[in-house]
Amino acid sequence: MYTQLSLDFGIELSCEQYPDFDVHSYDHYIIAFSGGKDSLACILHLLELGIPKSKIECWHHLVDGQGELFFDWPITEDYCRKVCLALDIPLYFSWREGGLEREMLRFNSPTAPTTYETPLQLQTSGGNSNNASTRWRFPQIGGSMVTRWCSSYSKISVGDAAIANQERFKGKRTLVISGERREESASRSKYKQFEPHRTHTKSRHVDHWRAVLDWDEAGVWNIIQRWNLRSHPSYELGFGRCSCIICIFASDDQLASVYQIAPQVIEKMADYEKQFDSYWRKQGKEGYTIHRQYTVMERVAMGRPYSMKPEIIELALSREYCESVVVPSGKWEFPLGAFSKDKSGPA
Ligand code: SF4
Repeated sequence: MYTQLSLDFGIELSCEQYPDFDVHSYDHYIIAFSGGKDSLACILHLLELGIPKSKIECWHHLVDGQGELFFDWPITEDYCRKVCLALDIPLYFSWREGGLEREMLRFNSPTAPTTYETPLQLQTSGGNSNNASTRWRFPQIGGSMVTRWCSSYSKISVGDAAIANQERFKGKRTLVISGERREESASRSKYKQFEPHRTHTKSRHVDHWRAVLDWDEAGVWNIIQRWNLRSHPSYELGFGRCSCIICIFASDDQLASVYQIAPQVIEKMADYEKQFDSYWRKQGKEGYTIHRQYTVMERVAMGRPYSMKPEIIELALSREYCESVVVPSGKWEFPLGAFSKDKSGPA
């Protein structure tokens, strides 16, 4: 069957390469909702396609686990919660125990267990391996998920465990939707739009659809505007991408901006960078600063902070999104970071 989904909004999705793909044929729709504009566009796109809300669920992977925050923006968790509340879509959180910081500091020990919310209970899996090894380094910049282990460790494998260990997906058709776009990086430009998901088995049908892979940035902002939703505060501060607050792919300007509003986060990053670099040099290995040429503090000094509004700084750094995520009709505005030339973020 040839499937073409024509929308009234000027966006056309052609699925010629995937003749059997029928977006309406699934029992469960899982949207990997990071809080960024592209995954938000995925949620809204599904709703505009007429997928019933009763079949949609959003999953957010907490990169810092449930402990003290280090990598992530303080507001991200509650922003996601408030968006899903406004759209009346269930949101399930999942995380690795101890988050990225515990994994980064792992020394001759196994990886931590994964915990995930389900409709019935909190479930945990893994964490009982005998394979001890050492990270003691930041995730490394690059396209490979092995060296840039933060995404695979804190998001991809967490989502996989949550699908594989829930009986409710057995014997059902599940579509996992994520918001990568080709425009964002050379490696993303080569992604497939549709493929069997890693957790697909004979007894559990799971497909992966990158629903906005071919959209441009204007298309993403247009759909958010149609729904009158506010974007993540990082965009309102001037960031072109919504990543971790200390994303390893951050530009000099982004690092300088974070240093201006949350110096303690960058100082902690710089301190770890020194410890890792000095340890590995003593082992006769290349230094392990995040950026091989410059330290974090050198990059902060080279960057120019954005011109950030105090009330948005306060919102971005709080744990509670205390405003409405819905903008009154006719009042929606592009955030400062929209169409920014600085698109630094996950490759
Ligand atoms: S946003 Fe950046 S630091 Fe955070 S998980 Fe993704 S690549 Fe890693």
